[in-house]
Amino acid sequence: LDETAPLLGGTVGWDVGVSATRDILAKANAAALEQFVKANVLLAFDFDGTLSPIATAPSKARMRRRTRALLTEVARRYPCAVISGRRLADIQQRIRPVPVQHLFGNHGGESLSARPSAPVPREWLTTLSRDLACVDGVTIENKRWSVTVHYRHAADRRLARAAIADSIRRLNRARRLDGIESINILPAGNPTKGDALRIALQQSGCTSAVFIGDDVTDEHAFAALPRTRTLPVRVGRRRQSAARYYVASQRQVDDLLARLLALRADRGNVVMRAR
Ligand SMILES: [Mg+2]
Repeated sequence: LDETAPLLGGTVGWDVGVSATRDILAKANAAALEQFVKANVLLAFDFDGTLSPIATAPSKARMRRRTRALLTEVARRYPCAVISGRRLADIQQRIRPVPVQHLFGNHGGESLSARPSAPVPREWLTTLSRDLACVDGVTIENKRWSVTVHYRHAADRRLARAAIADSIRRLNRARRLDGIESINILPAGNPTKGDALRIALQQSGCTSAVFIGDDVTDEHAFAALPRTRTLPVRVGRRRQSAARYYVASQRQVDDLLARLLALRADRGNVVMRAR
């Protein structure tokens, strides 16, 4: 693995000419959103930093009450998917009881329907633990189908990243996906969030998708489908992204949910009563 190259680039080849420069909540872009809502659309979300604010520790991340309420209503009107780097059981627990039909954990490596992909070899954990034992503020999270090495609390993040990168080079058939203050390691060949989005689209019978995410790993999903069939929205404006649209902050995800809800206000859960 080449530490200097953005490792996603080699596998995605996303068009860096495209960038998250259009505010999806701006009046000028309302028509674009409406056009997707009129179609047979799937709404797909990342979790951390998208549906929930980034927390100081992964265990503390949860949706605001307002987000949860909005998502519940949205999920009654649209087919929805959540695609997270967390373990499936973990993300299930954080989404419950919101009726999201398509849930994916481990970046797509785990789902409610498909068989899980290749587990992380035990040697990886041995190597990582040995190599990183002396690096202060680094934690290794074993998610069975992927490993996340967190360095948010490292005193020297640059040093921590370099040590993690060195250790990853010693792992056999490892695929590195850089995240926000963390590095994910997947067995080569395991699915990415892009694969998960394509599977969710197929399972839902939808023809297009809105995908909302904030992280480097979400770039796979932003670029997973042809332009005409996807409306990718990045949380936070960024020059280099495959997402054409953005919302300025995580809090604005609520505004986007409210907008989506308003666009299908007439489609609620109609209970048919026998007369
Ligand atoms: Mg995220």
